[in-house]
This record gives sequence, structure tokens and C-alpha cells, in this order.
Amino acid sequence: MINIKNLHKTFGKNEVLKGIDLDVKAGEVVVIIGPSGSGKSTFLRCLNLLEQPTDGVIEFEGKNLLDKDTDIDALRQKMGMVFQNFNLFPHKTVLDNLTISPIKVKKETAEAAKEKALALLEQVGLQDKATSYPSSLSGGQQQRVAIARALAMNPDVMLFDEPTSALDPEMVGEVLAVMKALAVEGMTMVVVTHEMGFAREVADRVIFMDAGIIQEEGTPEEIFGQPKNPRTQDFLRKVL
Ligand code: ADP
Ligand code: MG
Repeated sequence: MINIKNLHKTFGKNEVLKGIDLDVKAGEVVVIIGPSGSGKSTFLRCLNLLEQPTDGVIEFEGKNLLDKDTDIDALRQKMGMVFQNFNLFPHKTVLDNLTISPIKVKKETAEAAKEKALALLEQVGLQDKATSYPSSLSGGQQQRVAIARALAMNPDVMLFDEPTSALDPEMVGEVLAVMKALAVEGMTMVVVTHEMGFAREVADRVIFMDAGIIQEEGTPEEIFGQPKNPRTQDFLRKVL
């Protein structure tokens, strides 16, 4: 579904991504771990062109994202993104947060968008919050709304950038549970997280990123059981 070759990203003189190669298959859950500042967010943001890569190739469903002729908006709609800080529209109800883009961008009817939104809210356990405003919800609830909002666009892949890092500890589990259910249903997911339990349990493949390159990748058993790269070993010693 996604083929990344030799991806580079430089900010000024700071080379943040130094040649990333990664393929993501349909239905796969890829979890990216690594120290702060290693380029994980920049990598995710390059995938949906929130950042313009400096060099390399990103193919998504067979189309090169960096090709001038590619319809970037159409491709971006196929990629749902969930951020650390929810980024909900604060002055819209939960229901409006979920329906505004499907109606405006995908030209869905208000009724169809509402019906789908209510089903998604049920999926994330928030059917009773449709008329609430984001500020009245807990962090965990807001993040579940953010996931439902991304799903409302019917994406083919979901990108998560530290979705639980801003949450109080008691709310982490409810968000991870929603993500795990999505994975079980077969959603293609690329997840940056510090939740090693989630990585171990849900990932098909774990990527260890450091200093702008993929230092090591493997199954959760390989990465957590017998990491080969000294940098991976050192990182895991600190976080586990
Ligand atoms: P991570 O998500 O792994 O913590 P980031 O991708 O956020 O790492 O950051 C990697 C490096 O890229 C950092 O040195 C950061 O300062 C730099 N960086 C990220 N975004 C920008 C930007 N928009 N402009 C300049 N430098 C940036
Ligand atoms: Mg980051």
C-alpha cells in the first residue's frame, strides 16, 4: 500500500531523515519507536505531505505522492491522521466534528454523514456524546473522537503520532483499546508510540528509528526479545 524509498528531509542544515526505506502492506500494523528528536513525527508528516520531503519516493496505492500530477488532496483523504493533541474543532459539537469534512470535502449528504458519524461514535464508545462540545470531554474521550473523525473520511490507512502521550495515565488504555480494535478489523496503521505494551501486542512489525534512519526492524518478538543493534538495546533498556 505504501512504498517509501530513500526518503530524505532537511530543515535548513539539519538533516532529519537520512534515507528511509519502508514498505507497508495493506492490513499491516507498523509501530515506530525511538528516542525523542529521531525524526519519527517528521517521517509521518512526510507520508501525507504535511512536510515536503527533500528527496526520495513515496508511493501510495501505486501513485507517487511527489509527482506534480498527483492529486494530493484526494490521496490525503485516504490517509487519516491522529495527533498527540487531538486537534478537534473546539466550537463544533462532536457530531459536527465528524460530519463537517465528509459533507464539505466528500460531498456526502448531511443524513448519510450523520448516520456514519453515529455508528463511528458507537464504535469508539461515545454514542452519548454526539451533542457535546470537545471542552466538556476528557482527554481520552477527545482522542477517541479524533480517531472517529479520521475514520469518518473512510481512509485506507491511519497514521498515529503519539496518540496517548498527552493523556493522563488512566485514559491511555481506552484509546489503545480503540486502536487495537481497529487493527483487529484489518485497518492499515502506522503508529508512533512510546507504549511498548501496545507495540508488543498489536504490531505486525516494529521499527526502531534513531538519528533519522531505521536502525532496526523486525517482529515484536525480534525487537523486544533479541534486539541486535546496540542502539535498540540501549533504548529499550531505558524505556522498559
Ligand atoms: P520525533 O518525533 O522523533 O521526536 P521530530 O521529527 O519531531 O522527532 O524532530 C526531529 C528533528 O527535526 C528535531 O531536531 C526537530 O527540531 C526538527 N524539526 C522538526 N520539525 C521541524 C520544523 N518544522 N522546522 C525545523 N526543524 C524541525
Ligand atoms: Mg514526535
